[in-house]
Amino acid sequence: MPKTFSAAVVLVAVAALGVAGAAPADASAVSAGALALGHQTLPLNDGWAASGAGTTGGAAATTVSVVHNRDELVAAVAGDAPKIVYVSGRIDMLAGKSCTDFADPAYTLDGFLAAYDPAVWGTAAKPTGALEEARVRSAKAQGDQIKAIVGSNTTIIGINNGRISHGSLVLTGVSNVIVRNLEIVDAADCFPAWDPTDGTTGNWNSLYDLVSLSGATNVWIDHNTFSDGNNLDEDQPLYFGRPYQVHDGASDIIKGSDLVTVSYNDYYDHDKTMLIGSTDTAGVDVGKLRVTVHHNRFGNVLQRAPRVRFGQVDVYNNLYTATDELYQYTLGAGIESAIYAENNYFKLSFDVPTGDIIHYWKGTKITAIGTLVQYGSRRAIPVDLVAAYNAAYDPDLAPDAGWTPALRTKVDPTASVPSVVAANAGIRHLGS
Ligand code: CA
Ligand code: CA
Repeated sequence: MPKTFSAAVVLVAVAALGVAGAAPADASAVSAGALALGHQTLPLNDGWAASGAGTTGGAAATTVSVVHNRDELVAAVAGDAPKIVYVSGRIDMLAGKSCTDFADPAYTLDGFLAAYDPAVWGTAAKPTGALEEARVRSAKAQGDQIKAIVGSNTTIIGINNGRISHGSLVLTGVSNVIVRNLEIVDAADCFPAWDPTDGTTGNWNSLYDLVSLSGATNVWIDHNTFSDGNNLDEDQPLYFGRPYQVHDGASDIIKGSDLVTVSYNDYYDHDKTMLIGSTDTAGVDVGKLRVTVHHNRFGNVLQRAPRVRFGQVDVYNNLYTATDELYQYTLGAGIESAIYAENNYFKLSFDVPTGDIIHYWKGTKITAIGTLVQYGSRRAIPVDLVAAYNAAYDPDLAPDAGWTPALRTKVDPTASVPSVVAANAGIRHLGS
């Protein structure tokens, strides 16, 4: 089947699918297959996003749009009317701008570094004052440029190698959103914040997640590819002895977000990958943050795959590769978290102990069953991840998350996870 049709053929296809109203802005760029793809909804029982009202995205749309640049994307995803938005080709959210275009007249990195050098400012408090205020103003200007604020009842689909770079899809207080078949890369922050109180040596922290869910409900993130592109953390400078971290999460799910399915995505070469719950303070997150994470590839991500607070999170049939010397951990058991991990496959380098896969973040319990671990090219072996963690660290975690996932479609045997995930995760597997 050809990838594209003539405009006339597409208009027939639109009519056949019951899509009334405006034709795509660039009808020739949308194949019949892509039109059908845009109308797909989350399958029944496919993870937590199938709960409640289910997740249909923009399937009820009377119009579809094809976007090719930052302004078209921002306009198309706004508002709560049902809509299907095709991201065609590569969209750079900077749209020709650079960091210097956002910098406040009172901000320079050299000035900032001079003002808040621990030798000058100390390490007891976060920066305040004129340079910090100028940094915040600069960050606001960048955020206004690179964020795409997504409304409810939206499906966003990549076609023609659809890619969003240097930007962030922001889902705040919305429901019923689908993001599929999209490459999303390098949401670099031009103005990282310095926090001398973060950790023992201070840290540079950044603002933008590739996809950011805050108070978002019924969201399906499927068959996307997430990475830092060619802007790798390891290439960033050190300031104050710490890496100048310009990236934040790949797919963060916070502030009372709930009923989310993250399936068949490819996450690679990223540090803070998936934060589920951003604060230990019991509040809007209690009883929420229910997420299913299945059939994703996590290729040399360093931490948070995912890190969980409060939520019941089902993590099954994922493929993890941890061979980077900076690898920290995979499953973060945070406060009141209930991770149920089943049939996941880990490829580790020889210097990564199995006890490091789970990390204690004030949680008390976690289920991790059916795990296979493969060192190098050796034969994969079953590993009890909770026992391995408990043998290496304290406090011990109870090996029972206290719930059993019901919202699953098909659970693959662990031994087949590498081939199933390699053949299906990420972009270019949905026929567009
Ligand atoms: Ca974040
Ligand atoms: Ca122990």
